[in-house]
Amino acid sequence: MLNLILFGPPGSGKGTQAAHLVEKYQLLHISTGDMFRYEISNSTELGQLAKSYMDQGQLVPDSVTIAMLRKRVEDNPGVGGIIYDGFPRTVAQAEALDEMLAEMGTGISGLIALDVPDDEITKRILLRGQSSGRSDDSDEATIRKRIDEYKSKTTPVFDHYAKAGKSLKINGIGSVEAIFGQLCEAIDALG
Ligand code: AMP
Repeated sequence: MLNLILFGPPGSGKGTQAAHLVEKYQLLHISTGDMFRYEISNSTELGQLAKSYMDQGQLVPDSVTIAMLRKRVEDNPGVGGIIYDGFPRTVAQAEALDEMLAEMGTGISGLIALDVPDDEITKRILLRGQSSGRSDDSDEATIRKRIDEYKSKTTPVFDHYAKAGKSLKINGIGSVEAIFGQLCEAIDALG
Protein backbone atom coordinates (compact mmCIF):
# COMPACT_ATOMS: atom_id res chain seq x y z
CA MET A 1 0.00 0.00 0.00
CA LEU A 2 1.40 3.37 -1.02
CA ASN A 3 1.25 5.89 1.83
CA LEU A 4 2.63 9.13 0.48
CA ILE A 5 3.00 12.39 2.39
CA LEU A 6 2.92 15.38 0.07
CA PHE A 7 4.80 18.00 2.04
CA GLY A 8 5.63 21.67 1.71
CA PRO A 9 4.68 25.14 2.93
CA PRO A 10 1.22 26.62 2.40
CA GLY A 11 0.89 27.64 -1.24
CA SER A 12 3.57 25.22 -2.48
CA GLY A 13 1.13 23.44 -4.81
CA LYS A 14 0.31 20.34 -2.74
CA GLY A 15 -3.42 20.45 -3.47
CA THR A 16 -2.93 20.92 -7.22
CA GLN A 17 -0.40 18.11 -7.48
CA ALA A 18 -2.40 15.79 -5.21
CA ALA A 19 -5.40 16.10 -7.54
CA HIS A 20 -3.26 14.87 -10.47
CA LEU A 21 -1.53 12.16 -8.45
CA VAL A 22 -4.73 10.56 -7.13
CA GLU A 23 -5.94 10.19 -10.69
CA LYS A 24 -2.74 8.62 -11.99
CA TYR A 25 -2.09 6.29 -9.05
CA GLN A 26 -5.71 5.68 -7.95
CA LEU A 27 -5.12 6.87 -4.41
CA LEU A 28 -7.38 8.20 -1.71
CA HIS A 29 -6.67 11.92 -1.22
CA ILE A 30 -6.80 13.09 2.38
CA SER A 31 -6.44 16.84 2.85
CA THR A 32 -7.04 17.85 6.46
CA GLY A 33 -7.44 21.49 5.35
CA ASP A 34 -10.24 20.47 2.93
CA MET A 35 -11.83 18.37 5.68
CA PHE A 36 -11.85 21.33 8.06
CA ARG A 37 -13.29 23.60 5.35
CA TYR A 38 -16.04 21.03 4.72
CA GLU A 39 -16.89 21.02 8.43
CA ILE A 40 -16.93 24.84 8.44
CA SER A 41 -19.27 24.95 5.43
CA ASN A 42 -21.63 22.61 7.30
CA SER A 43 -21.41 24.73 10.48
CA THR A 44 -20.53 21.74 12.62
CA GLU A 45 -19.02 22.02 16.09
CA LEU A 46 -15.71 20.71 14.73
CA GLY A 47 -15.88 23.30 11.95
CA GLN A 48 -16.42 26.15 14.39
CA LEU A 49 -13.52 25.00 16.53
CA ALA A 50 -11.21 24.60 13.52
CA LYS A 51 -12.21 28.01 12.13
CA SER A 52 -11.15 29.78 15.32
CA TYR A 53 -7.57 28.53 14.69
CA MET A 54 -7.53 28.72 10.91
CA ASP A 55 -8.61 32.37 10.86
CA GLN A 56 -5.58 33.18 13.01
CA GLY A 57 -3.21 31.20 10.78
CA GLN A 58 -2.63 28.76 13.64
CA LEU A 59 -2.63 24.99 13.57
CA VAL A 60 -5.73 23.20 14.83
CA PRO A 61 -4.82 21.21 17.99
CA ASP A 62 -3.25 17.79 17.41
CA SER A 63 -5.88 15.82 19.36
CA VAL A 64 -8.69 17.15 17.13
CA THR A 65 -6.76 16.76 13.87
CA ILE A 66 -5.46 13.27 14.64
CA ALA A 67 -8.94 11.99 15.62
CA MET A 68 -10.42 13.36 12.39
CA LEU A 69 -7.63 11.84 10.26
CA ARG A 70 -7.90 8.46 11.99
CA LYS A 71 -11.62 8.30 11.31
CA ARG A 72 -11.13 9.10 7.62
CA VAL A 73 -8.54 6.33 7.24
CA GLU A 74 -10.68 3.83 9.16
CA ASP A 75 -13.73 4.72 7.06
CA ASN A 76 -11.82 3.72 3.90
CA PRO A 77 -10.54 0.18 4.39
CA GLY A 78 -9.05 -1.63 1.43
CA VAL A 79 -7.88 1.42 -0.52
CA GLY A 80 -4.81 0.84 -2.68
CA GLY A 81 -2.99 3.82 -1.25
CA ILE A 82 -3.36 7.20 0.40
CA ILE A 83 -1.91 10.59 -0.32
CA TYR A 84 -1.69 12.77 2.79
CA ASP A 85 -1.90 16.45 1.89
CA GLY A 86 -1.37 18.91 4.74
CA PHE A 87 -0.94 16.14 7.31
CA PRO A 88 1.12 15.46 9.40
CA ARG A 89 1.96 19.05 10.36
CA THR A 90 3.59 18.32 13.73
CA VAL A 91 5.89 15.57 14.98
CA ALA A 92 3.09 14.40 17.32
CA GLN A 93 0.82 13.97 14.28
CA ALA A 94 3.58 12.06 12.47
CA GLU A 95 4.05 9.74 15.43
CA ALA A 96 0.30 9.12 15.68
CA LEU A 97 0.17 8.38 11.94
CA ASP A 98 3.12 5.98 12.16
CA GLU A 99 1.45 4.16 15.04
CA MET A 100 -1.88 3.93 13.27
CA LEU A 101 -0.33 2.61 10.05
CA ALA A 102 1.77 0.10 12.01
CA GLU A 103 -1.45 -1.22 13.62
CA MET A 104 -2.76 -1.69 10.07
CA GLY A 105 0.41 -3.56 9.09
CA THR A 106 1.70 -0.82 6.82
CA GLY A 107 3.74 2.39 7.04
CA ILE A 108 4.76 5.59 5.30
CA SER A 109 6.31 4.86 1.89
CA GLY A 110 7.84 8.30 1.56
CA LEU A 111 7.55 12.02 2.14
CA ILE A 112 8.05 14.33 -0.82
CA ALA A 113 8.52 18.03 -0.09
CA LEU A 114 7.81 20.74 -2.65
CA ASP A 115 10.54 23.31 -2.16
CA VAL A 116 9.33 26.89 -2.73
CA PRO A 117 10.89 30.08 -1.28
CA ASP A 118 8.92 32.32 1.14
CA ASP A 119 8.42 35.35 -1.13
CA GLU A 120 7.05 33.10 -3.87
CA ILE A 121 4.55 31.34 -1.56
CA THR A 122 3.22 34.63 -0.18
CA LYS A 123 2.65 35.83 -3.75
CA ARG A 124 0.92 32.59 -4.72
CA ILE A 125 -1.35 32.54 -1.65
CA LEU A 126 -2.45 36.15 -2.17
CA LEU A 127 -3.22 35.35 -5.80
CA ARG A 128 -5.18 32.23 -4.79
CA GLY A 129 -7.06 34.35 -2.23
CA GLN A 130 -8.55 36.43 -5.04
CA SER A 131 -10.57 33.43 -6.20
CA SER A 132 -10.51 30.80 -3.41
CA GLY A 133 -12.76 32.73 -1.07
CA ARG A 134 -10.47 31.57 1.77
CA SER A 135 -10.13 34.29 4.38
CA ASP A 136 -6.78 32.82 5.48
CA ASP A 137 -5.50 33.40 1.92
CA SER A 138 -6.37 37.10 1.82
CA ASP A 139 -4.68 38.65 4.83
CA GLU A 140 -0.89 39.09 4.81
CA ALA A 141 -0.55 38.85 8.61
CA THR A 142 -2.44 35.51 8.61
CA ILE A 143 -0.28 34.23 5.77
CA ARG A 144 2.88 35.22 7.67
CA LYS A 145 1.60 33.38 10.74
CA ARG A 146 0.91 30.26 8.65
CA ILE A 147 4.47 30.39 7.31
CA ASP A 148 5.83 30.81 10.87
CA GLU A 149 3.77 27.83 12.07
CA TYR A 150 5.13 25.81 9.15
CA LYS A 151 8.73 26.69 10.00
CA SER A 152 8.51 26.11 13.73
CA LYS A 153 6.14 23.13 13.99
CA THR A 154 5.95 21.46 10.59
CA THR A 155 9.50 21.38 9.20
CA PRO A 156 10.57 18.95 11.99
CA VAL A 157 8.25 16.41 10.32
CA PHE A 158 10.64 16.40 7.33
CA ASP A 159 13.50 15.48 9.70
CA HIS A 160 11.36 12.85 11.44
CA TYR A 161 11.03 10.89 8.18
CA ALA A 162 14.54 11.82 7.00
CA LYS A 163 15.89 9.79 9.94
CA ALA A 164 14.27 6.73 8.36
CA GLY A 165 15.64 7.74 4.92
CA LYS A 166 12.13 8.45 3.69
CA SER A 167 12.19 12.22 3.04
CA LEU A 168 13.07 13.87 -0.21
CA LYS A 169 12.76 17.32 -1.69
CA ILE A 170 11.91 18.41 -5.18
CA ASN A 171 11.95 21.86 -6.74
CA GLY A 172 8.44 23.32 -6.46
CA ILE A 173 9.08 26.12 -8.94
CA GLY A 174 8.09 25.43 -12.52
CA SER A 175 5.06 24.41 -14.54
CA VAL A 176 2.44 22.12 -12.97
CA GLU A 177 3.32 19.50 -15.60
CA ALA A 178 7.08 19.67 -14.95
CA ILE A 179 6.62 19.34 -11.18
CA PHE A 180 4.13 16.52 -11.70
CA GLY A 181 6.73 14.73 -13.84
CA GLN A 182 9.33 15.00 -11.08
CA LEU A 183 6.83 13.77 -8.49
CA CYS A 184 5.92 10.74 -10.58
CA GLU A 185 9.60 9.86 -11.03
CA ALA A 186 10.13 10.11 -7.28
CA ILE A 187 7.05 8.00 -6.51
CA ASP A 188 7.97 5.32 -9.06
CA ALA A 189 11.42 5.11 -7.43
CA LEU A 190 9.81 4.38 -4.05
CA GLY A 191 9.08 0.91 -5.41
P1 AMP B 1 -4.36 23.90 4.26
O1 AMP B 1 -5.59 23.87 3.42
O2 AMP B 1 -3.65 22.59 4.28
O3 AMP B 1 -3.45 25.05 3.92
O4 AMP B 1 -4.85 24.15 5.77
C1 AMP B 1 -5.54 25.33 6.13
C2 AMP B 1 -5.54 25.46 7.64
O5 AMP B 1 -6.20 24.35 8.23
C3 AMP B 1 -4.16 25.50 8.30
O6 AMP B 1 -3.61 26.81 8.29
C4 AMP B 1 -4.49 25.03 9.71
O7 AMP B 1 -5.12 26.06 10.47
C5 AMP B 1 -5.57 23.96 9.43
N1 AMP B 1 -4.96 22.62 9.25
C6 AMP B 1 -4.96 21.86 8.12
N2 AMP B 1 -4.32 20.71 8.31
C7 AMP B 1 -3.88 20.71 9.58
C8 AMP B 1 -3.11 19.83 10.38
N3 AMP B 1 -2.64 18.65 9.88
N4 AMP B 1 -2.85 20.18 11.67
C9 AMP B 1 -3.31 21.33 12.19
N5 AMP B 1 -4.00 22.24 11.49
C10 AMP B 1 -4.30 21.94 10.19
